[in-house]
Amino acid sequence: MLDDVVSAEADALSAARAEAHAAECTPCRLALAAARAYHRTMLRVGGAVRATATLRDRALGLLREVRGSRPI
Ligand SMILES: [Zn+2]
Repeated sequence: MLDDVVSAEADALSAARAEAHAAECTPCRLALAAARAYHRTMLRVGGAVRATATLRDRALGLLREVRGSRPI
């Protein structure tokens, strides 16, 4: 889902809801920023840098945790 938000394939409503939630939720804001940084990096290097997968996993894991208490 987070990947969808940061990709061009995200529909406007989902992206807007995620943005609105992230604006009030620090963990999600950080996770979203991390995911975007990851996405930009992957676009730039074409998937050659594997180290960023760790950052992506951390971001997605964080989102899963906070999503339990308040759906994004
Ligand atoms: Zn959140």
